[in-house]
Amino acid sequence: MPADRMRIFCVANQKGGVGKTTTTVNLAAGLALEGRRVLVVDLDPQGNATMGSGIDKRQLDASVYDLLLGALGVPEARRRSDKGSYDIIGANRELAGAEVELVALEQRERRLKQALAAVREEYDFVLVDCPPSLSLLTLNGLVAAHGVIVPMQCEYFALEGLSDLVNTIKQVHANLNPELQIIGLLRVMFDPRITLQQQVSEQLKAHFGAKVFDTVIPRNVRLAEAPSYGQPGVVFDPASKGAQAFREFAREVARRFG
Ligand code: ADP
Ligand code: MG
Repeated sequence: MPADRMRIFCVANQKGGVGKTTTTVNLAAGLALEGRRVLVVDLDPQGNATMGSGIDKRQLDASVYDLLLGALGVPEARRRSDKGSYDIIGANRELAGAEVELVALEQRERRLKQALAAVREEYDFVLVDCPPSLSLLTLNGLVAAHGVIVPMQCEYFALEGLSDLVNTIKQVHANLNPELQIIGLLRVMFDPRITLQQQVSEQLKAHFGAKVFDTVIPRNVRLAEAPSYGQPGVVFDPASKGAQAFREFAREVARRFG
């Protein structure tokens, strides 16, 4: 792979609790297991990706807050997730204040993009875990990214819920980042026994075609338990159905994007 092929993907959906963080940390660990060099950026003040990577958000002396405000670069702000075998720039509640402070700064929506440019030869993939909003923090992720991965549950209003995100992505594409595109919808927390979920899944494929990833992530309790052990599920219980599905998803992403 050429040195400058670093791919930056946002994991985004303006709804909370849809599986963004679970997707981010498990895809990161899965790609690392495939031999890829991965950086995770936690853009959510809740710091769930940070904790789920085994880094205590209350003990962070450097975070994505420092990065966005220009006080530190990636080399100073990153930490190693030993469990996940990837690097991570962590977040905690301090990041909630960045929103206000960023407004006064120049190039306020390009801060993350600028910071990541300095390490473009060090990683194959950067995964940005976005907060459940279409805020200035999410905008920093979308401006930096080549693509957006959208985790979604196959529920009745799933398609309607997508329209705000799709419109935001269109606007960012038109005004700030011509490279940006939805690279894929990932069906998560899937239960094949529920007829409605199968129907919505079919609707998604009819609507979005090849933009729907082949891999489907099942509902699996081991994925939900892993964060409390500070580990991605693929590392916590590699034999579980959820872990196997995320390993397969990582292979699908690696195949399609290098
Ligand atoms: P978000 O980042 O979008 O808010 P999370 O990834 O934190 O969503 O997931 C929300 C909750 O659902 C968490 O408690 C998580 O552990 C759980 N969860 C996520 N994916 C699965 C899954 N495939 N099976 C079971 N539980 C899951
Ligand atoms: Mg989250």
